[in-house]
Amino acid sequence: MAKKLKLKKKFKIIGIIIILLIIGSIIGVKQYKIYKYHQTYEYKLMEHGYTKDETSLLINTFNDTSKLDELLNQNIDKTLLNLINEKYFILNNLDRYEAYLKKNPKLSLDNVVTLVNVNRDNNYYENVVATDTSKDILMLVNKYNHLNEDYTPEDLVIISQNYSWGDLGSQKTRKIVYDAFQNMWNAANSEASIYLMVSSSYRDYKSQEIVYNNYKSLKGEKYADSIAARPGYSEHQTGLSLDIFTKTSSNKNTFKDSDAYTWLINNSYKYGFILRYPEDKVNITGYEAESWHYRYVGIDIATFIHDNNITFDEYYAYYINK
Ligand SMILES: [Zn+2]
Repeated sequence: MAKKLKLKKKFKIIGIIIILLIIGSIIGVKQYKIYKYHQTYEYKLMEHGYTKDETSLLINTFNDTSKLDELLNQNIDKTLLNLINEKYFILNNLDRYEAYLKKNPKLSLDNVVTLVNVNRDNNYYENVVATDTSKDILMLVNKYNHLNEDYTPEDLVIISQNYSWGDLGSQKTRKIVYDAFQNMWNAANSEASIYLMVSSSYRDYKSQEIVYNNYKSLKGEKYADSIAARPGYSEHQTGLSLDIFTKTSSNKNTFKDSDAYTWLINNSYKYGFILRYPEDKVNITGYEAESWHYRYVGIDIATFIHDNNITFDEYYAYYINK
């Protein structure tokens, strides 16, 4: 009987030990999990004062944790959060956004993002790069992206004198552009009795050089830059640009008041063309408004650019080059 009691007591003690062990390990695991969580950036950033949403925004934006460490060592950066939330934010440009904002504290953040994306934190013709011609009809030529002296499109075709001024053979464009232009010509003519005429199309490096140097020798570099692209920097060298007027309206000063201009603004994208240098985008494109200069980019992208009211420079930075 006493033996039985002793055994019962032994079991009881073993039972208690097991229960204690279980409780202990549960607490241990829990403590370990808490310890582990305290090591995460989620915990640290929220402890630092960022909200849950801001914290996940930061973690999702920066794969490189050194930036997160940096944030933990400074006050909460609301400007950074707002920059990241900008529609056209590009992570690689972050340092430049911050530097540009510092220099131009009155600019809105969306302006900062837009201008830096299109390189306006550099002066024109500074920090230039060679145009990536492998992008074909989406290649970018502007005051920061240039073609080489020997770049000539392979599929140039002659524009009929029915649609262009100048000697036969003097107006050329890429075949894909010519096909699209003819479709647009037919639509303009049948829908609105507009007779489109091309005044300038493909221009080679040499002829741009002659035009530019002529202005330069006449009135200096500043004047030349204000009126013509430097050789290699004219979009006309791509064979994708057309200066478009009509038979009855061919004056650069008044073309924007014509019915043809309005028709082109509202319809050219359906044929793959965009107005390349709009009036309200001078600081983005680097060009004074040119109501006649159209660029072919294909129907899908022309439609996107038209619908979103952005320039090709912005489109290229965010959707092609990013
Ligand atoms: Zn032009």
